[in-house]
Amino acid sequence: MHCPFCRHTDTRVVDSRASEDGSSIRRRRQCPQCHRRFSTVEATSLSVVKRSGVVEPFSREKVVSGVRKACQGRPVGEDSLALLAQRVEESLRASGAAEIDAHDIGLAILGPLRELDEVAYLRFASVYQDFGSLADFEAAIATLRAEGRG
Ligand SMILES: [Zn+2]
Repeated sequence: MHCPFCRHTDTRVVDSRASEDGSSIRRRRQCPQCHRRFSTVEATSLSVVKRSGVVEPFSREKVVSGVRKACQGRPVGEDSLALLAQRVEESLRASGAAEIDAHDIGLAILGPLRELDEVAYLRFASVYQDFGSLADFEAAIATLRAEGRG
């Protein structure tokens, strides 16, 4: 990176700070030649590693479309879905990792989805956690009840 004052081709990082949601990093830099200081803000990318090993950029739209299926026939509006996707992205970014396992996205969806709609949550969990029998549903419902919901 060039110094914006003297165009020196090297700068030294004196301080780094991540933004609250983790989506960018603010760096304080100093030029070793003219000793002036300046700041840069760098956006951090968030990638998803799929089970196949393919890496693709994180997409809120994919979170929304996955959750929308589980919400069919439920009183959940598009605004709620968008907000949920935003919360999922923020929690993933807050972990500080640049690459997220696709499985961890499902995990990050479960919490906010449960607050949004318990039936949609059970549907989503049954696919995501691969429920194989009624007993799996019963256990999940028992957990919801035990925690004062449902
Ligand atoms: Zn300089």
